[in-house]
Amino acid sequence: MAGDSETILELKRVAGDMALDFANTCDHQAGVIVADWLRSYADLLDWVGRVGLLEGAQVEHLRHVAARQPVAAAHAFQQALALRAAIYAIFSAIAGKQPPATEALAYLNAVLAACQPHLQIEPEGEGFRWGWAGDSDALDRPLWPLARAAADLLASPALRLLRQCPAEDCGWLFLDTSRNHTRRWCDMDDCGNRAKARRHYRREVAGG
Ligand SMILES: [Zn+2]
Repeated sequence: MAGDSETILELKRVAGDMALDFANTCDHQAGVIVADWLRSYADLLDWVGRVGLLEGAQVEHLRHVAARQPVAAAHAFQQALALRAAIYAIFSAIAGKQPPATEALAYLNAVLAACQPHLQIEPEGEGFRWGWAGDSDALDRPLWPLARAAADLLASPALRLLRQCPAEDCGWLFLDTSRNHTRRWCDMDDCGNRAKARRHYRREVAGG
């Protein structure tokens, strides 16, 4: 869970995967969002810039475009929230050994279809990387690498490492890359310690 981070720039990244870290920009309790750090299009830009999904110059450019087109930016923000909800629904279902909802997969596929024409290969250093071509004014550009990251994880063997934090007001998703695959909490300092404190309290009460 997000703990006491005030802004999305301070939010912990514990998932070991970009798409899951994006899903973890809010806390869930019984399937409902109880705390949210993604509150505006500006937050979305801050986040994708911070994690390196878009380059700094691109992020600044989109900030200017959003300032000129606030209605379109608000629309792109709603699309980002819908994508996050779809990513959360898909991966929390899989973590719980359930098949993901068809609508959630359909939404992810719709975003993938929209970004596919922009996908290109770019030189980077001695090698190459996936990049995004054209339309630098597209306010939904932050969604493209996010949808791709989610799709990559779904198609990756790393999916079997997917876990969900069992703290009731957290619901964060992560890849358990611990050596013995025994990681239980999103963050031992946060949810892990709270659980330990509760167990301790219950023992004290039981012991009189
Ligand atoms: Zn947690």
